[in-house]
Amino acid sequence: MAKKISIAIDGPAGAGKSTIAKRLAKELGYMYVDTGAIYRTVAYFFDLWGVAPKDIDGITRYIDELTIGIEYDEEGVQHMIMNGMDVTGDIRTPEISQKASLVSAHAIVRDMLLDMQRDVAKQHNVIMDGRDIGTVVLPKATVKIFLTASAEVRARRRCDEMLAKGMKADYNKVLKDIQQRDYQDTHREVAPLKMCRDSIKLDTSDLDIDGVIAAMKEIIAKKVPQ
Ligand code: C5P
Repeated sequence: MAKKISIAIDGPAGAGKSTIAKRLAKELGYMYVDTGAIYRTVAYFFDLWGVAPKDIDGITRYIDELTIGIEYDEEGVQHMIMNGMDVTGDIRTPEISQKASLVSAHAIVRDMLLDMQRDVAKQHNVIMDGRDIGTVVLPKATVKIFLTASAEVRARRRCDEMLAKGMKADYNKVLKDIQQRDYQDTHREVAPLKMCRDSIKLDTSDLDIDGVIAAMKEIIAKKVPQ
């Protein structure tokens, strides 16, 4: 089997990783893997079981009860399957965002998900986004991009997204949530969010989506034979 191409996109919450990665994957014909959705599924599972995300004993006791599947529909949309149930629509709440950030700090959780993520990249050309893709999951990725933006810009974008979906959005609350997740994700011991030496940083604070896509395509074109 020919070696697959992998594009790792890491960065903090709300940097636009999934929007950008989804569009790029479609344009390049790669599979998009949203690894945040996998951690959200874990958080959702423990939430249903009444296990707090910091309760390592509870997590250790019940983690074997969890099975996770990733499926794609005909439009290429990623669906998260938790113990046979499609939970894609349940994992996008601010509460699950916070819990995912806490639950993902445990080594036992990260270890369980590592092979699953690597297996997809072995079988397909992928654009995979997350926090530790370039550093841990795919250290030999063909292209590594670190996508970031100021916390204020990220909070504003997240609010606009929520409003567009008809949800309520309180800018100050969203900003606080983003800052808290940034802190947790960068300060944990296992696989913290950090830029690796061979990754290319792209600050999207002053760019619109088309601008980011154009910049990313330029970066990718330099590393991937067209
Ligand atoms: O990307 P998203 O906001 O959906 O991720 C939810 C949480 O999952 C993040 O705050 C982060 O703590 C965790 N995560 C992670 N490693 C990844 C992807 C997400 O720890 N590769």
